[in-house]
This record gives sequence, C-alpha cells and structure tokens, in this order.
Amino acid sequence: MHHFEHRNGTLFAEGVSVKELAERFGTPLYVYSTATLTRHFQAFDSAFASMEHLTCYSVKANSNLHVLRLLASLGAGMDIVSGGELYRALLAGVPAERIVYSGVGKKPAEIRQALDAGILMFNVESVQELLRINEVARDMGKTAQVSFRINPDVDPKTHPYISTGLKKNKFGLNIDNALEAYALARDLPAVEPVGIDCHIGSQLTTIEPFLEALDKLLIFYDKLKGLNLNIRYLDLGGGLGINYNEEEPPHPTEFGAALTKALGHLPLKLILEPGRVIVGNAGILVTEVLYTKQTPSKNFVIVDAAMNDLLRPSLYGSFHRVDEVVPQGRPAQDVDVVGPICESGDFLAKDRLLPEVRQGERLAVYSAGAYGFTMSSNYNTRPRAAEILVDGEQAIVARRRETFESLVAQEL
Ligand SMILES: *Cc1c(COP(=O)(O)O)cnc(C)c1O
Repeated sequence: MHHFEHRNGTLFAEGVSVKELAERFGTPLYVYSTATLTRHFQAFDSAFASMEHLTCYSVKANSNLHVLRLLASLGAGMDIVSGGELYRALLAGVPAERIVYSGVGKKPAEIRQALDAGILMFNVESVQELLRINEVARDMGKTAQVSFRINPDVDPKTHPYISTGLKKNKFGLNIDNALEAYALARDLPAVEPVGIDCHIGSQLTTIEPFLEALDKLLIFYDKLKGLNLNIRYLDLGGGLGINYNEEEPPHPTEFGAALTKALGHLPLKLILEPGRVIVGNAGILVTEVLYTKQTPSKNFVIVDAAMNDLLRPSLYGSFHRVDEVVPQGRPAQDVDVVGPICESGDFLAKDRLLPEVRQGERLAVYSAGAYGFTMSSNYNTRPRAAEILVDGEQAIVARRRETFESLVAQEL
C-alpha cells in the first residue's frame, strides 16, 4: 500500500501533483512519500509489538538524511554497513544504542568510530574481524558488544546476487565452526558476545526460509548454553520482499506472527533489519521522454533517467513497473525503456507493453525507493538526481540535484 495514485487524470504523490514536481525540480527526480514511509515502518514495527524487539532500518536501502530522520522520529534503530552510514545515522539523530553494525570488511578506523559513538553491537563476520575489534576496543579501554553473523546455509530463493545465507556466500561464519568463535570471544578481554545474527538475503517472498534459518539458529543457541555466555539478542536481519510486479510477499503482520510464535517464549530481544520493505514502494523515479525510435526489431523509448540513476534493472534484471505520469490513452506498444548511457545494459524496462508516449511526456518508475538513489553513480559524468520528500501537500528538496561543479570539485 502506497500513496502514489492517479487523480483527475494525473499522478499524485500524496497531495502533490507529480507533473508539477517534475516541472519545478526537473528530471530525473526521485519522489518519496512520508505517509508511505510512516505507514510501512509502523506496520512492520507493530507486527512485533508482543515481544521485546528493536527494528533497525537498513540504511543502505535509502540513506537520505530526511528519510533517516523521519524513521528515527518513529523510533527506528539503524543497521549500518560502513563508517559513512554511521555518520549519517548519528547526524539524523539516531541514538547510538539503537545502531547495529554489519558487513564483512569493517576497517579499524570504522570500528573506532563505532566504539566512540557507543553503538549497540557489531555483527561480526569472521574470526579475524573479531580479533581486530578486540584490539581496537582494548586500545580504547572499551568493551565491544558483539554478535556473530551465522551463515545457516539456507536457500532464500531469490536472485543469486542478493542471496547471502548460502555456504558459498562470503557472509558470516559457517554454522559448524561458530561455536569455537564464541568460545574465543568469551576469552578475549575487550569483546563481549551478546547475540546471534543472521541475514540470509533480500527480496524474500515467502516466510519459510526465515523459519528454516531461525530453526538452525535456535539449535545453535541451545549449543551455546554450554559456554556460559550472556546471549540476549537474536538478530534475524532483513530481507522481507515487496511487490514489484506479481510477487505476493507475506504481509509484515504475518511475518511478525510467525517469528513471535517461534521466539516469543525465549529470553531474547529480537532485532530486525528491514530495508526494502520500508522504503521500496515509498519512492518513484520520474523521468522525461527524450526521444522515441523504431528499429526493425524494437521500439525504443529513450528517457532522461539511466542505469546510473536506477541500477537494479541492469544489475539484477529487476522488474520495475513503468507508467505514464499523465495517461494519454493511446494504444499500447511493445517497447524497451532505455537511458542515454553508452551501454546496452542501460535499460529501465525491457519488452514492456506501454501506451505510446511522446517526446516531453513523463514516466514514473515505481518501487524505486529502495536501492535506487543509494546505488546511483556519476557514470558518463551525469549529475545524480534530486530527491524530493512529499508530506501531504508539502514537498521539500531532500537532496539537491548535483551540478557539474560538484562533480569535479574533488578533482580540482
Ligand atoms: C542489505 C541488508 C539488510 C536489508 O535487506 P532488505 O532486503 O533491504 O530488507 C539487512 N541486513 C543486512 C546485514 C544487509 O546487508
């Protein structure tokens, strides 16, 4: 459920005309809806209301400060994967004790930064990383709270690039060797093992893989009891999918009920790291048709947004719904919607039935709120898009469009 709807023949983001936003701020343009973000966060968070939990929004899905500030104001913690994300989260006013730090390659300076801030815990992905955290913490006279990210070897049945809990993936510790790692952590002076963590992948459309992973973690939790640790957190990561096309992912309520049933009786605080499910359908990318062109084999719609703005179609072959901002009612054609970048992989939609569109008209690319702007780049020296946050009748510039000057500033 989101707040992008057609009214009187034109697309609205809440109470604001998308066509007017495009005219005012130019294209390509990301537009986010406050009401949708709020609703998605609250629907997710309240699904776990009956147990002790902390919802740590995954910053990498959409790290705009205004989005982070909004989610922080709703009580969200954050899941970060870099010093840069920590910087953003703190700037957005997220209390450090609601921040967990994931990722396979934390650098010493980043570890120091996180210890300085006083984050809740590190999700540790290797024994070497544990030793490094111990060293840094010892030098600072601190103790770092840690969880190990366990790789449960579960197939999330999603795109291979976003599967992370299979044995062959780079993430986490193999579940069979993890016990030794906890024993080591117990005996190191400057780390304290406080939790168990896993994150098996992204865009999951059924609950079963989560429950399968949870089963394995709970068996492991039992084994850990022999080590006499004070384990008090179980972090199940993110990964709940959204509807891009015809997927029917479980509603957060269903997800929450299933996890609460499996976990509610245990003395563990549940941590969740949702990203896509909060922001994915809370954003669209608005683009203008530059040209149309017919070749003997294809109809191309050439637009001013490209793979540097929204990489998912090129990177994963992902489907994003594309539709007119102001429907003209012309007959549909089979088209590829492509950008100006010099790559054949630069497309937003392939072999899509779309009503005939003309130069100067605008298209909305849906479900672009997650891994949209955050994966954007300056390839072809293209300034990154502006981001607009709508709230009712109000629209604010959440990020100004980059300029040529800002693109070369670090080179001068
Ligand atoms: C990317 C990521 C998430 C968020 O995944 P979504 O599919 O967007 O919910 C959560 N935790 C970790 C460790 C991640 O890498």
